[in-house]
Amino acid sequence: MAVVTIKDVQTIMTQPGGSRLVVVKIITSEPGLYGLGCATFTQRIHAVHSAIEKHLKPFLIGKDVSRIEEIWQMSMVHSYWRNGPVLSNAVSGVDQALWDIKGKQAGMPLYQLLGGKCREAAAVYGHAGGSSPEQVADSVRRFMDEGYRYIRIQMGGYGGEASKLVKPDGTPEGAYFDPREYVRHALKMIEHVRSHVGDEVELLHDIHERLVPIEAVQFAKDVEPFKLFFLEDALAPEDLEWFHHIRQQCCTPIAMGELFNNPREWQPLIEGKLIDFIRMHVSQMGGITPARNVAAFANMYGVRTAWHGPGDTSPVGHAANLHLDLWAPNFGIQEWCRFSELIYEVFPGTPEVRNGYMYPNDQPGLGIDINEELAAKYPCQDIVEQWTQTRLPDGSPTRP
Ligand code: MG
Repeated sequence: MAVVTIKDVQTIMTQPGGSRLVVVKIITSEPGLYGLGCATFTQRIHAVHSAIEKHLKPFLIGKDVSRIEEIWQMSMVHSYWRNGPVLSNAVSGVDQALWDIKGKQAGMPLYQLLGGKCREAAAVYGHAGGSSPEQVADSVRRFMDEGYRYIRIQMGGYGGEASKLVKPDGTPEGAYFDPREYVRHALKMIEHVRSHVGDEVELLHDIHERLVPIEAVQFAKDVEPFKLFFLEDALAPEDLEWFHHIRQQCCTPIAMGELFNNPREWQPLIEGKLIDFIRMHVSQMGGITPARNVAAFANMYGVRTAWHGPGDTSPVGHAANLHLDLWAPNFGIQEWCRFSELIYEVFPGTPEVRNGYMYPNDQPGLGIDINEELAAKYPCQDIVEQWTQTRLPDGSPTRP
């Protein structure tokens, strides 16, 4: 069999919805054979674009497309300085595209190459919200009416909406929140929703690392009676040793990892059985190759998967999540953001969700394509991100 090589690496940037998306397209030496991968780091798209075009592309041209593992390993050390979010996302775009190509060559959906299905579809959770506990409960009921059995509940965005901020004179603009008010309001909201929607639906909540560690420990204890399916990002990646304290205090299931991109971040949490769900953003960790390894590693410790699936994961990335979900013996749950009709037109083959389950389309590879002509009609808008300019009541910058 003739060796198929990488002929070109293209970076497609498009914004058909709210998020700026970055997709890598690898063109091969075999006419008509190409692959797609998600490289979306929405806040720094130009840095990823440049990493792909100026650094990875010259390194990749002419390489044998079949050698995914070797290309991944070499890509992660080729720059000598190790991985960070920009490089990991760029490498992910390449890695996912190579898996897509391998599936197309084999005539099989990607989950077959990983080891075949453990399930026919992946259970998903949706995002319910509102600005009062009553509104959140109504939002949960609407999801339940659509067949969702797992629903994340948030009130007023991450960290909540502060009702009475007292700021010092001369305080700059920003995305303000009050951690103490957030804790009080979020607990009341979770209690209200649980008591009004019953015990049969699984509820999730995301702290989004908005608390100092000891507040997070207290919060995890306080929500224990409401039996969350999981509590997400209770702590920041900088405070990982505090997970021991949460475990000592309560049995609220803990999900962590969307910001991780280095094995040193997830290894101790999994080995120590300090978390229940790994929640990595698959492109942020470098693609399908490392995600497959982490899932298998976590499986040995009874930790389940819950790959990050927000609107700033491209539909190509959601397709990659789905194939991992269908295969992983330790699949837990899949986050889902409900794309618009336009997104389905720009990305034909975007996974479909029915009755709370995400289904594959059984096309070879990732089973997704991009309508480049349509994507070009929605160029990325350059903005200075506002929601990540997070501030505490006195104006101090804090984590978003
Ligand atoms: Mg999150």
